[in-house]
Amino acid sequence: MCKKVLISSCLLGKNVKYNGKNNLIEQNYFIEKLKSSNLLIPVCPEVDGGLPIPRVPVEILKERALNKNGEDKTREFKKGAKIALENISQNDIKMAIMKSKSPSCGRDWIYDGSFTKTLIQGDGITIKFLKQQQIQIFTEEELDDAYKFWKALQVLNPLINSS
Ligand code: SF4
Repeated sequence: MCKKVLISSCLLGKNVKYNGKNNLIEQNYFIEKLKSSNLLIPVCPEVDGGLPIPRVPVEILKERALNKNGEDKTREFKKGAKIALENISQNDIKMAIMKSKSPSCGRDWIYDGSFTKTLIQGDGITIKFLKQQQIQIFTEEELDDAYKFWKALQVLNPLINSS
């Protein structure tokens, strides 16, 4: 059985960003292959958590998701992260392709909460949840590595199923 992949829906061209736009990945063999085989499970944790499109941008400060007006959106961010986890368990997902630098979907680097485009080391709120589940996370800048990992999963899968 081919393995499904969780993906930030803005990377598929869905207009779910805070500004109503998207981060479409164009003309990538791996993404097109997954798409045509119905193996992508798109999530937008911010919208899934109940935030509107468009919305005031959010950054993470001291573990809280605060928007530019100082309003705390941590509850909505965590709700969206839990929905991503439900998708993970329902679809037996082992890997994700997530938008870099996002306060929800960013892995390893996020903006520092000052709204000055300053990056610091850290994870978006959904990524923290995914890491706790040992999900392998790639960004849209690591699609070659993501493809190699996905191909390895296809080889491993029959072994896992027969053990
Ligand atoms: S929460 Fe994730 S999927 Fe939604 S717009 Fe932000 S980066 Fe994209």
